[in-house]
Amino acid sequence: MKDLIIDKDDFWVMHDKVKPFLISDVEEHPEHEHIVTPSEAEELLEADYCIQCGACHYSCPVTEINEQFIGPAAFVKAYRFEADVRDDAHIERLDVVNEEIQGVWDCVKCMECAEVCPKDINPIEKITKLHNMIFDEGIAKNNIATRHAVYFKDSIAKHGQLNEAGLVIYSEKGYGMYKHLKVGMKMIAKGKAHINPLIVPKSEKLDEIAKLVKISSTSKF
Ligand code: SF4
Ligand code: SF4
Repeated sequence: MKDLIIDKDDFWVMHDKVKPFLISDVEEHPEHEHIVTPSEAEELLEADYCIQCGACHYSCPVTEINEQFIGPAAFVKAYRFEADVRDDAHIERLDVVNEEIQGVWDCVKCMECAEVCPKDINPIEKITKLHNMIFDEGIAKNNIATRHAVYFKDSIAKHGQLNEAGLVIYSEKGYGMYKHLKVGMKMIAKGKAHINPLIVPKSEKLDEIAKLVKISSTSKF
């Protein structure tokens, strides 16, 4: 608007969408305080350091082309209250970030938000935690992004490597195959994808990989 002053109205509109405040059904005259343990406080501490500078929001390639995308800063704010054990609007807020086009599933994981954050908050990590919460609550919708996540994990557990062709077929269905045909052919030529997605060699250390997948999986798919 002038010198280094920018118009951040769109930023605050997205910020408001995620109900960026504690929603708690407290008694008017409680007899006890609601104790938050140090480890519970730790879960939300980093997100609480956000100064809402907007650097992540305005460097995100998705906010640039999709006016409905809530954006990384608001997702950090959503996570801050989702991780707060005193909050009672867990599903209500998750429903907002779970919506297609505006929600976390439209993040393309480019890491730009993490690169630019002056507070080292790492919004993409908070987005991933929101993904996990959505799966854990059993409210994930059947869309390209969720199918992509499910297949990715299953492929690593089953083959020890990513079955690229299978990933496209499972997550994007027939049209996806057509859309990615050119890139797929190049990948097959370079040995980076298998020509028959039903025949994928297994990694030598598949047992160890499968164990790692199991112990590192926190979500119910
Ligand atoms: S990782 Fe996601 S939210 Fe962050 S800048 Fe990239 S697309 Fe935007
Ligand atoms: S760049 Fe960091 S501090 Fe700034 S709004 Fe985004 S998360 Fe918050």
